[in-house]
Amino acid sequence: MDVFRLSSDSAVSGHTLSVPRVIPREQHNLSRKQVSRGALRVLYGLKDAGFRACLVGGAVRDLLLGRQPKDFDVATDATPEEVKKLFRNCRLIGRRFRLAHVVFGPEIVEVATFRGTGEGDASGDRHVVDGRILRDNVWGTIEEDALRRDFRVNAMYYDIADFSVLDYVGGIEDLEQRRLRLIGDPATRYREDPVRMLRAARLAAKLGFTIDPAAAAPFAELGPLLADAPPARLFDECQKMFLAGYGLASFRMLVEYDLLRHLFPGTARALAHDGSGGLRALVERGLAGTDARVADGRPVTPAFLFAVLLWGEVVVLAGKAQDEGVARSLAWQRAAHRVMSEQGKRVAIPRRFGYAIEEIWALQPRFAERSRKRVFRLLAHPRFRAAYDFLLLRSGESEELREAGEWWTQAQSVPPDELSTVLAPKTSAARPGDAADKPRRRRRRRGGKGRKPAAPPSGPQP
Ligand code: ATP
Ligand code: MG
Repeated sequence: MDVFRLSSDSAVSGHTLSVPRVIPREQHNLSRKQVSRGALRVLYGLKDAGFRACLVGGAVRDLLLGRQPKDFDVATDATPEEVKKLFRNCRLIGRRFRLAHVVFGPEIVEVATFRGTGEGDASGDRHVVDGRILRDNVWGTIEEDALRRDFRVNAMYYDIADFSVLDYVGGIEDLEQRRLRLIGDPATRYREDPVRMLRAARLAAKLGFTIDPAAAAPFAELGPLLADAPPARLFDECQKMFLAGYGLASFRMLVEYDLLRHLFPGTARALAHDGSGGLRALVERGLAGTDARVADGRPVTPAFLFAVLLWGEVVVLAGKAQDEGVARSLAWQRAAHRVMSEQGKRVAIPRRFGYAIEEIWALQPRFAERSRKRVFRLLAHPRFRAAYDFLLLRSGESEELREAGEWWTQAQSVPPDELSTVLAPKTSAARPGDAADKPRRRRRRRGGKGRKPAAPPSGPQP
């Protein structure tokens, strides 16, 4: 890939440079046409007011790679307050890392003031405990700002003053080599912020890059630090990993580097006992399906994804409880609650998604019930679609589940008044349900319909 058109003698050593390697506008492929309207307005607004303004981070990286960036970040020597004065549509956010957000309709341009190293700072604007950065609001120069970024490929600046790209840390070299290296000592950088380990896996997945061996080496020792990362931040990171179109690749990276157990301990445990490989196949199908939806521009929900990722442990726990004599539905309900509350300690899954996840699980046995009334009721359930998609994912588990998937696919494709023709042969062929269905069967008989429910799908189910 020759995106930079550079002579070979201009290659940098990879060491930190106090003088940047400057790639003038005619020697790189980053054009203003690819930069969003909002980001350009911010860049020019700052420049016209006499400030330094650069596009930075993932946007510069992605544009140099010929990819469309997800969002545009701007770095400047203006303070957040100065940024706010310049743009009406600006709000200041964050306490530990203060930023300005400039809003243009649906687009938010994140504007960060150049950060310094904070050495000798006595104001408390930079706060470090046990090597971990808890507050980072000391302003600095662009050179210092480059050094506190995470990966070299993330520390390049596109300067709106002359349209050149500035590389202080050997980012261009890494882009050419398609690898991720940290700026500075990897262990120190992970101690400062353990989420950088997840960012390494995520960016490697997203870009198809390799993680430099030196950047991966501390994972085994420092991975456990992720247990102390703020759960809300880990939820955001999960969304970026799994709902941005490269979820399957992210999952594989987490497994390959043994980071999954720090984010989803129960899932990692269930996968370790997944002798048949069925759970891994289910998770991978779920993630691949989500990626395909993102690629087609269809909506995706974190609830479905978490339902898929956490399913394995629910199955294990519910199975164990049933072996100990707990009734089936109670065993499943308890297992679902326990998995959700354990997972919530790591990743703060907002409550509305938590309800949806438990509903997707709880609806699974209802796909075995094919009486007319129950079919209509399930089809009208607000969570039907997600639960049905989940059923289809599980169809590899057994012949019964495959049959159930086909049946419900057909049930949706026929007009409601013809549904009874679909229902009749299947329900009459159905075998009686198991003991757990007895009360419901009694109710149905009283209702006079006289239909028997179909056999519940075998295999794990609530
Ligand atoms: P994406 O394409 O997914 O947005 P990104 O690299 O742009 O990836 P952002 O979270 O948007 O990720 O961050 C923007 C930039 O801010 C990064 O490129 C990096 O320079 C810097 N950055 C983000 N998070 C960290 C961190 N934890 N430590 C150091 N620098 C960071
Ligand atoms: Mg970004």
